[in-house]
Amino acid sequence: MVNIKEVKRLLDKWQDILRLRDWDIKIKMVDTEWRKSGDVKIDSDDRKAILLINSNPKSTNLEELVVHELLHIKLWPMDQMIEKSIIREFGEDDNCPKKDFAMEHFFMTLERTVEELTKGFLAANGSKQELSFGRLRKEIEGEIGEVENIYDIVEE
Ligand SMILES: [Zn+2]
Repeated sequence: MVNIKEVKRLLDKWQDILRLRDWDIKIKMVDTEWRKSGDVKIDSDDRKAILLINSNPKSTNLEELVVHELLHIKLWPMDQMIEKSIIREFGEDDNCPKKDFAMEHFFMTLERTVEELTKGFLAANGSKQELSFGRLRKEIEGEIGEVENIYDIVEE
């Protein structure tokens, strides 16, 4: 279970590092069944955001989760610009396969970029905590139903 105090501490720490002090960011813990570990809702005109954190997340590294969601705030203007360009190019129709493809490709690239930046920021900050392998663990769980004994190359 995620400790709200720990989320607050991490938010406070990373708002400074990522220079997001001029933003009002609130935390909402999600207690219901939810496929995501976290999300962020953003109002950039007002510089307000709400961080949604699954109180029982698949992600096992809370700091990684918080930094990931905060980086979405940093990338929001670019995110919105690209989304609008795709809509301008392909229209509002959600059943357009070309638009679908462009959107999917964009979201995948965005997520990969956010993940790469998150890893870099955590490493630069000296974080020793193991990165979350939640998604890969889920995949293994689905196939063989067991996720213990996943070894590191370097044993302590
Ligand atoms: Zn994301």
